[in-house]
Amino acid sequence: MKEIKKSWKNIPIGGNILEAGNSKNYITGTWRTFIPRLDKEKCVNCFQCWMFCPDNSISIVENKMVGFDYDHCKGCGMCVSVCPTKAITMEKEEK
Ligand code: SF4
Ligand code: SF4
Repeated sequence: MKEIKKSWKNIPIGGNILEAGNSKNYITGTWRTFIPRLDKEKCVNCFQCWMFCPDNSISIVENKMVGFDYDHCKGCGMCVSVCPTKAITMEKEEK
C-alpha cells in the first residue's frame, strides 16, 4: 500500500469538493476491515465485479481481471456478491 497522502482528517469542512477528480488522492483502502482476494483459476473475465465496484478498484489489464486497487478498495464485498463463479473471497485483513 502506498504512503497515505490524505486521510479523512484532510477532508474539507462540509465535504466540499475543492478540486475536480481528487478522489484518487484519498487512500480509502485504509478504511478496510475485510480484503478481497482473487482466485484466477475460477475467474472467467466477465467483468461483473468491475461494473459493480463502487470504488473503481477492479484492475483490468489487456481484457483480463488481474486483481484489485488496494489503495482505494474499501472492502465492501460487492464484487464477491456479483461474481458468478465465486472467484473472489473476502478475508479478514491483518493490519
Ligand atoms: S470489495 Fe468493494 S471496493 Fe473492494 S474491489 Fe470489491 S467491490 Fe470494489
Ligand atoms: S466477476 Fe468474478 S469471474 Fe467475473 S471478472 Fe470478476 S472475478 Fe472474474
